[in-house]
Amino acid sequence: MAEQDKLHAMRHSLAHIMATAITTLWPEAKLGVGPVVENGFYYDVDIPNVTISEDDFKKIELAMKQVINKKQPFEQSSKPIDEAITWAKAANQPYKEELLNDLKRAGTTVAKDLSPEEMGTFAGEDSKSDTVGFYTNGDFTDLCRGPHVEDTGKVGAFKLMRVAGAYWRGNEKNPQMQRVYGVAFETKEQLNEHLHMLEEAKKRDHRKIGKEMDLFVFSDLVGQGLPLWTPRGTILRTEIDRFVQELRSEYGYQPVEIPHITKKDLYETSGHWDKFGDELFQIKTREGHEFVMKPMNCPHHTQIYTSQPRSYRDLPVRYSNTTMVYRDEQSGELGGLSRVRSITQDDAHVFCRSSQIKQEALKIWAIVERFYGVFGMEVRAELSFMDPDEPEKYLGEPQLWEDAQNTLKELVIEKTGEETTIGVGEAAFYGPKIDFMAKDALGREHQVATIQLDFNQPERFDLTCTNEEGNPERIIMIHAAIAGSLERFLSVLIEHTAGKFPIWLSPEQVRIITVNQEEMIVRMADDIRQLAENSGLRVHVDNTHESVGKKIRASEVAKVPYTLVIGEKELSDGVLSPRLRKDISVIDAQSELHYEQFVNTVLNETKSRVNKSSL
Ligand SMILES: [Zn+2]
Ligand SMILES: [Zn+2]
Repeated sequence: MAEQDKLHAMRHSLAHIMATAITTLWPEAKLGVGPVVENGFYYDVDIPNVTISEDDFKKIELAMKQVINKKQPFEQSSKPIDEAITWAKAANQPYKEELLNDLKRAGTTVAKDLSPEEMGTFAGEDSKSDTVGFYTNGDFTDLCRGPHVEDTGKVGAFKLMRVAGAYWRGNEKNPQMQRVYGVAFETKEQLNEHLHMLEEAKKRDHRKIGKEMDLFVFSDLVGQGLPLWTPRGTILRTEIDRFVQELRSEYGYQPVEIPHITKKDLYETSGHWDKFGDELFQIKTREGHEFVMKPMNCPHHTQIYTSQPRSYRDLPVRYSNTTMVYRDEQSGELGGLSRVRSITQDDAHVFCRSSQIKQEALKIWAIVERFYGVFGMEVRAELSFMDPDEPEKYLGEPQLWEDAQNTLKELVIEKTGEETTIGVGEAAFYGPKIDFMAKDALGREHQVATIQLDFNQPERFDLTCTNEEGNPERIIMIHAAIAGSLERFLSVLIEHTAGKFPIWLSPEQVRIITVNQEEMIVRMADDIRQLAENSGLRVHVDNTHESVGKKIRASEVAKVPYTLVIGEKELSDGVLSPRLRKDISVIDAQSELHYEQFVNTVLNETKSRVNKSSL
């Protein structure tokens, strides 16, 4: 059995074991479904007059361990569907009975009313037969198609994590059940590693750090999902954008700028009017014209491209534009910076011939590598291709698709030396793409940049260039965001660094602390500040009456990379012994620096965007 299947069987077996434990503790418990989920499993239960709380977890875990210690074999059996219904009735399991009745009604081949989770609970391996699968361990029997581990003793390490309300079959008109979640891994070490990661993730939650470090705020008056950026947070945004733009300009991108609204006609032409529908923020002018807030930038950019005749010699044309787009996300889905209604995209579009796809994609890839490399994040590429069985779902000539997909595939092999997973059928209707996944310090993967080919908008907006024969030739568009959404990228970066930003990005790079208010000391602190500020560094002087210890502590809490303490010794020697934030490796061979030396060192580190952090 493959490692992944083995883990799946363990987790699934644990769902049964938890149901065994719960029905032992509360014999009146009614069971819903109990599938495997990421990192673990859950079971939906309904116990009359009992609300399970985290206080019950010890008791349930203990009862589970008793089942585990008994090493009960998981025995498979099957029953005709009518007998299965009788069984559910006799066992007083109305939810199971309902599922079985649906299965009977929907037919055994097309159980269209059943969700995959529900199917997973019991549909037999042979879906054409009229029988339903069961698994029994000890006295507990459940509808199930397996697979399971051999016996209850072979389930690895687990822990119950939380309990939450969940409507039966996800429908709010149905009774509310209790969903008890657990995580499970093959070994105790893996479980502990995962629990540690969760703990660490909680500490690094970007909403918490954003507040502590004063990076962004929300206001009830402005509204949900509309972050407001403080001076410190704005520095992060500006620096990241500057970095992206520097990289882009090396590869021939030209900045453009566009209004944030447009006539709805633009989206009717692009086809987005139908696609975005409810997500569009609409505006009515006083003259009764319909406008919308832009949910994306490409249609605007096409109008710059098409504003003049283009020869093949002018191509590729590359526009970059960091700007906000607006999407009316449902309020229940908004959270911190991960999902917002005002999204800043570091957007870019390449207008090129199909023969230029490869060279352009390579350039974007190079930018992606350099960008994420600076943050110490590994990136992995994934391909999304069309489904060859349903060519009617995609726009553009089949030959164009095939060539473009082959180009992207070649590119991945060339860059990584190996094949990558291809998501067949995962391409957008308008073109294949490469997605980049970045791994953060906690080992979590985030989808970040994309190289998205677009055959649709050139068609819709009739984008062409004049080719060598003097004829119009349809061109291709490439969408090429690097950070993607600055909001989402910052939520990832804050959690990746735990707020210990690299020096070039730190909102406050140097803090100068005075040991007392003596005139000469204050003057020296101010001289250094001025020198550093004139060189473009971000410096703050803490000249308060607090103790030096407290001031140093405050600088640590603010995660300032360099802290300078100015006292009698510094004054008489004219040299500094900078204190480094704990994650930063040594500043220089010397631990004592003249203050001009210090400023130059920090300045060089800022300019080169060196990553000295050992996160
Ligand atoms: Zn099962
Ligand atoms: Zn675009």
